[in-house]
Amino acid sequence: MSRPLLEVRNLRVEYATASGLVRAIDDVSLTLHPGEILGIAGESGSGKSTLAQAILRVLPPPAIITGGAVEFEGRDLLGLDESELRALRWSRISMVFQGAMDALNPVITVGEQILDTLRAHARMEPTVARNRALELLRMVGLPNDCLSSHAHQLSGGMRQRVGIALALALHPALVILDEPTTALDVIVEREILEGVRALQQKLGFAVLFITHDLARMLEVSDRVAIFYGGRVAEVGTADQVRRSPAHPYTQGLLRAFPSLHGDPGRLASIPGAPPTLRNPPPGCRFHPRCPVAVEACRISAPPMIEVAPSHRAACHLAASESPGDR
Ligand code: ATP
Ligand code: SF4
Repeated sequence: MSRPLLEVRNLRVEYATASGLVRAIDDVSLTLHPGEILGIAGESGSGKSTLAQAILRVLPPPAIITGGAVEFEGRDLLGLDESELRALRWSRISMVFQGAMDALNPVITVGEQILDTLRAHARMEPTVARNRALELLRMVGLPNDCLSSHAHQLSGGMRQRVGIALALALHPALVILDEPTTALDVIVEREILEGVRALQQKLGFAVLFITHDLARMLEVSDRVAIFYGGRVAEVGTADQVRRSPAHPYTQGLLRAFPSLHGDPGRLASIPGAPPTLRNPPPGCRFHPRCPVAVEACRISAPPMIEVAPSHRAACHLAASESPGDR
């Protein structure tokens, strides 16, 4: 396998609040390879956005990175200064977030915004820049006349496509999509995600795709990581996690989401609430909600157990599959 594009090792991020420290990311390790789509799913508050912001080093105060390492293209991102980070953002790593469609500048045209992004990072002749802007619009399925439109003249889906065009403007190696389609209806969401997938296959960038929609994530991603209470509960290929989820939380999530192709009969929710990260339960953080918890789960945190090649789960009861099970 290729050398990882992104390697997150034992990352810790804490929010220093008036009522104490909230450890939003606790000892998280993940890898992402060039050209791969890694999906991150988990309930609200499990730490998904904090992870994305920590990778890009755009964490809002009072969040601080208190441990671990983030390596991108062999460089230690946590050791870079602000000017080195500015040079990296957009050109090597870009991000589209849920509110990106509302973040467009309302007083200048879409074309001017794309040209501003191109000019800020690369010297380009005006004609070359304009042609690149038109190419970007075409890539995300928008007509040429969007170049002269203002944000308020576009639908939410069109604005989010502009956000994706901006993210791809400088040929990044990694695009972070943080709930990019959550505010859109399912048909527009599907079209946009299929478009991103097609572009990713054509242009070869890697994607970190964050969502709380497990079914959508399994459809779009090559590999997936399931977050619970600021930790990785399970990681594997989309196929492994869909067919043989090893962590009881993933099993619950899969039951809680209807499959993309219908079957609402499978819908069931996971009883209980996600853990508070200011004072998480001891042992396995899922134990208060886990239907198969044993005594050890209340006492010690489970290690990551390899259940199959490239498939791991943090559960005391996870067992390696025999080759015949694969
Ligand atoms: P969602 O799907 O709702 O966006 P998420 O999985 O992305 O949730 P984060 O937004 O990363 O989760 O938040 C992780 C945890 O960090 C939360 O449970 C909360 O306890 C804590 N947190 C997030 N933002 C702040 C903040 N500004 N101040 C204090 N704690 C915060
Ligand atoms: Fe359930 Fe125990 Fe596994 Fe946690 S370690 S998921 S509580 S069985």
